[in-house]
Amino acid sequence: MASVIRDPLRAWLHDVVERAGFPDIDAFVRHYGLKPFRLRQLYRAATKELLERPGEMTSLPKELRAALTDRGVEFSAITPIAVQHSRDGQTTKGLFRLHDGAEVEAVLMEHRGGRTTLCISSQAGCAFACAFCATGQAGFTRNLRAGEIFDQAWFFARQLAPRGKRVSNVVFMGMGEPFHNYEAVMTAVAMLNDPHGFGLGHRHITISTVGLVDRIDAFADEHLQVNLAISLHAPTDELRSQLMPVNRRFPLRELLAACERYVEKTNRKVFFEYVMLAGMNDDADCARRLAALMRGRLYHVNLIPYNATPDAEFGASSEKRIWEFAGILDAAGVPTTVRRNMGRDIAAACGQLRVETQPKAAGGLAHRRRHFSRGALLH
Ligand code: SAH
Repeated sequence: MASVIRDPLRAWLHDVVERAGFPDIDAFVRHYGLKPFRLRQLYRAATKELLERPGEMTSLPKELRAALTDRGVEFSAITPIAVQHSRDGQTTKGLFRLHDGAEVEAVLMEHRGGRTTLCISSQAGCAFACAFCATGQAGFTRNLRAGEIFDQAWFFARQLAPRGKRVSNVVFMGMGEPFHNYEAVMTAVAMLNDPHGFGLGHRHITISTVGLVDRIDAFADEHLQVNLAISLHAPTDELRSQLMPVNRRFPLRELLAACERYVEKTNRKVFFEYVMLAGMNDDADCARRLAALMRGRLYHVNLIPYNATPDAEFGASSEKRIWEFAGILDAAGVPTTVRRNMGRDIAAACGQLRVETQPKAAGGLAHRRRHFSRGALLH
């Protein structure tokens, strides 16, 4: 029923060979006289065995290994620039540079009991300009390719492996709007999920969107077990348009109708995110209006404590206010949770991801060193 067949091996390999200077996979295959199983070997070495380059592959004939090494074939499309750990050690933020100099961040959260959640970026910057979000305030740079999205998970999987841990959940809640880069995100999902490669179950992946109605419909038609989260943040059009300009294009009635169609088609629950902004959207009236929108449906509300952004004009709701708000939803029978905050001290919490505008060359490194003073510099 899926609308498009996405081949994770070909998508991944295409970018690897292109970076090594080949126009496409066929040219690469011809150049080395490769049998098809060699391509599967390369893909598996990177995505399942988490190797970094063909030189590490003992399964390859020596000459081929040497030839690929000489050519500079590398599996990852992204270069880690800095890695920073929160004081409690549970949160790690990675800053990555892409081949054209664009930069993105990803955040790993290690929960008690061994479970991990990785928050990844789908775009450098974001075009949607939500008033409270650091990424949105910085504007849009470009879409990531599927491999650049996947490689964020690959990097952290490699970090975790020596400790016997793995990336157990992936959420598209980093920089960017995943449904604004729909095809690459769906291909990255196929890469993450591929049982012959990374092998992460669809149920362990969540896509979070500002609410692009046409893409919610397309996503429903994919019939994947991937979770859908909607950034709602307000129960009225007036307030939502103030906080999220996208609401002018897709107002609440249309957005919620798309969510209903999604539930009807997939029988899957929809998660609604609601960031708690003091005096904006956190009073009892908002809670009652929100409850009225959510009640009696296959919906779950996740209240997010607001994290201050560099030029914040908003304040965070008090904990008391958040729990009162949750209480009203709960009393109305709406399943509600309050998100736990992680990584605030390294500006790695929800909505805090923003790569500073880059100064050039040497100055850039000095700047970065200050910016990431608590972290370990990799380069
Ligand atoms: N573009 C996607 C992914 C963005 S980040 C989306 O909007 O859903 C994931 C969540 O963090 C979104 O719900 C977003 O609104 C929220 N968020 C953004 N800035 C925040 C902040 N400063 N504090 C708390 N949550 C924030």
